Amino acid sequence: GRPPRERPTRAEAIVDLAAIRHNVATLRGYAEGAQLMTVVKADGYGHGIVPVAQAARAAGADWIGAAVLEEALDLRDAGDTGPIFCWLTTPGEPLAEAIAEGIDLSAGAPWEIDELAAGVVDRPARVHLKIDTGMSRGGAVPEEWPALIRAALREQAAGRIEIKGIWSHLANSDEPKSEVNDSQLATFTHAIEVAESFGVEAEFKHLANSGATLALPETHFNLVRPGVATYGLSPFGHSKPAAELGLRPAMTLKARLAMVKRVPAGVGVSYGLTWTAPRPSNLGLIPLGYGDGLPRHASNGAPVQFHDARRSIVGRICMDQCVVNLEDDDVAPGDEVVLFGPGASGEPSVDDWADAARTINYEIVTRLGPRIPRRYV
Ligand code: PLP
Repeated sequence: GRPPRERPTRAEAIVDLAAIRHNVATLRGYAEGAQLMTVVKADGYGHGIVPVAQAARAAGADWIGAAVLEEALDLRDAGDTGPIFCWLTTPGEPLAEAIAEGIDLSAGAPWEIDELAAGVVDRPARVHLKIDTGMSRGGAVPEEWPALIRAALREQAAGRIEIKGIWSHLANSDEPKSEVNDSQLATFTHAIEVAESFGVEAEFKHLANSGATLALPETHFNLVRPGVATYGLSPFGHSKPAAELGLRPAMTLKARLAMVKRVPAGVGVSYGLTWTAPRPSNLGLIPLGYGDGLPRHASNGAPVQFHDARRSIVGRICMDQCVVNLEDDDVAPGDEVVLFGPGASGEPSVDDWADAARTINYEIVTRLGPRIPRRYV
């Protein structure tokens, strides 16, 4: 066969696993007395599911949280034997395999309990009852609680499931003062009381994502599920940056210029020629585009760092490439640009890119695609 290819030098996302471990330890400190579930869905928010999960376990994560079954099963394949909670299954998925692997699953309706019970071979399914406390994203609303609880207790009595937890999700924890948090917390507390009045003894009660882990201690119960904060990103945007929360951004995205050119004033750049050089300028070609997950909405304005200066993406971001205005900088093909990083050397942050694209930091890192190698340090 073909000899192994050298690691591409075009672009890379450097993931600082020491920062991940630091953030996990910091989050443990925010939720003393509760267990910690590190959420690694969507390839660890783009950072790489397996290395992140390993770093999180090393730093004391009791649980790993995954959205979909492939993620949970990939973690088992990678040798993770600890508690894993996976909450988003779709009818017809291979529940039997997940149950056999001892993965904790969610059910928010009697038919979901039935599906889990039907997937049981030789060990009971570990189930967390999903309560809709107001977000309308799955789970049982109050009128549905008795039917869900009865179905779960019936299958537990038959030895097919074990009720391990009761849980819900917050819609507004990025605004800790929002009344929605109080209302969801009250509904969740009520659901626990109702379940207990029916005889449910669920060991784990969990509600808190990053925002709530960091700012709403009354939502911690005995298990918290932070995702984005694990990666050193603030769920609160500019109102409380990561550094103020004691978090360290883990990812740096770098690329090497594929080409440079000097253009005269008046030259248009990229599709639609939406940017025109106001004066003679050095342009650098960054070999990354929306096919790699850069947001096209960040065209004409997203920041990068070149040498020690902030420079801007000009013109539209294309599928595989985009153009940076390097003004009168001294530049050669192959020179490095930093798109974002922790900010320690003055480089833009993930939040700066999120602002440029009018989105949230979560989306910037999560969308980075498989063409960008992740390098772990
Ligand atoms: N729990 C559930 C059910 C989720 O869907 C998510 C992600 O949205 C999280 C926890 C983690 O959320 P965050 O990244 O805001 O901490």
